[in-house]
Amino acid sequence: MSHPATIARTEPVDLVVRGGTVVNADWQGAADVLVDGGKVLGVVEPGAYRAAQAPGTTEIDATGRLVLPGGVDPHCHVGFTSGDFTSLDDYRQATTAAVFGGTTTIVDFAIPRPGENPADVAAAQRAKADHGLCDSALHACVVEWDDTVPEQLRALADDGIVTVKMFTTYRGETMADEKTVLNVMTTLRDLGGMVVIHCEADHIITDTQERGAAAGTISACHHADTRPELAETASVAEILAIAESVAAPVYFVHQSTPEAVDLVARARGRGVRAFTETVAHHLVLDDSAYAGPHPERFVCCPPLRDADTVAGLRSRVLMGQVATIGSDHCCYDTAQKESVRHDVRAMPNGLPGVETRMPVIFSELVVKGGLSAGRFVEVMCANPAKLNGLYPRKGVIAPGSDADLVLWDPTLTRVVDSSALHMATDYTPYEGLTVTGWPETVVVGGRPVVTAGRLTDPNSQGRHLRSDPLSRSFVC
Ligand SMILES: [Zn+2]
Repeated sequence: MSHPATIARTEPVDLVVRGGTVVNADWQGAADVLVDGGKVLGVVEPGAYRAAQAPGTTEIDATGRLVLPGGVDPHCHVGFTSGDFTSLDDYRQATTAAVFGGTTTIVDFAIPRPGENPADVAAAQRAKADHGLCDSALHACVVEWDDTVPEQLRALADDGIVTVKMFTTYRGETMADEKTVLNVMTTLRDLGGMVVIHCEADHIITDTQERGAAAGTISACHHADTRPELAETASVAEILAIAESVAAPVYFVHQSTPEAVDLVARARGRGVRAFTETVAHHLVLDDSAYAGPHPERFVCCPPLRDADTVAGLRSRVLMGQVATIGSDHCCYDTAQKESVRHDVRAMPNGLPGVETRMPVIFSELVVKGGLSAGRFVEVMCANPAKLNGLYPRKGVIAPGSDADLVLWDPTLTRVVDSSALHMATDYTPYEGLTVTGWPETVVVGGRPVVTAGRLTDPNSQGRHLRSDPLSRSFVC
């Protein structure tokens, strides 16, 4: 999109967002947004559309606000069971928190338990989408290869699920061997899909953990030491080699080190369709959290890294080497985490974050870090939509897009307080952090769901989104 259009239309539209600064990944400027039938009808010169000529129209005053496309969180676990623990939210709760945080599309995971098959698990998870306050899409997951997998992947693609999560760790639960990764990559390549992969070399981690257990250093405060950076580097190199050898696209979830990001960037330079996702907590928090009073609250995989690594990872965002920033939202509470804090091998891994992703990254990387608002929209909205086959329906404010809009107050400063958040847990890893820039009003499908920080439309309107084949999305 280039400049706002002028418009002669005078008949009523459902909604006009007037007086704000529209920010897309590739254009920003003063413009009014016209919404009708749940879609963006036009992005027009300020004042070009006159409410006086259209008495049936709702108006929202966006003076002094940025008007952003609703956030697209490419990595969000809802009600996720792993080991003995299930994360505490359902679609209703996760999407409520998402919307309050300026995210209007989440991409969840359908991860089989041992013995379950990918297509059945995806169907069960997809059925939950209509309980949400906003739309959602799904990543399927393959753990083991057998003769039925190609047909399952084809059926999933026909149903609009074209991304498949894989893991190189958690042996006996979700880990896939290298040949399975290769087979799934090759199959998805031909279906217009893509593997999205968690890379940590399991043998290195298992060995490090066994040595930690023998030495009595296996509790939550030792978490970072039990999952060394080189386990991630080694696994990323291996998976890139597989992708390159079969000319398949690949997306690395939650890359936590500059070395891992650089491997992907170099591969992209050779023509490999390889993409980096980072997640908010790896860009904002560091391993000093494990020396604090609640180390278990910060146990996630990969672990929080040291401050130099965090600085290096941030620099990769500013250099344009990071395609997307997700949350890796996983909503456990303190009691679940504390119950096994003596042994990280038994911990529920993951941090709550779907609600804080947008504000924390805006504050740390835009307000303090030198990232432009357009690049913020690119990594938080546009690229996650593109790499999940949802663009331009999501991730951009343009005629024909879903009317998911966030009126963002770029100067509002608040201290993060878990009791003021909406996630189904009792803590946030950002407790006490001063954050500048919060969503104020959030429009979902043309309806103001949060208005001036209050829930004004509690009706579920979530839909499961069918992803398009990704072939068109690989320029980003
Ligand atoms: Zn995850």
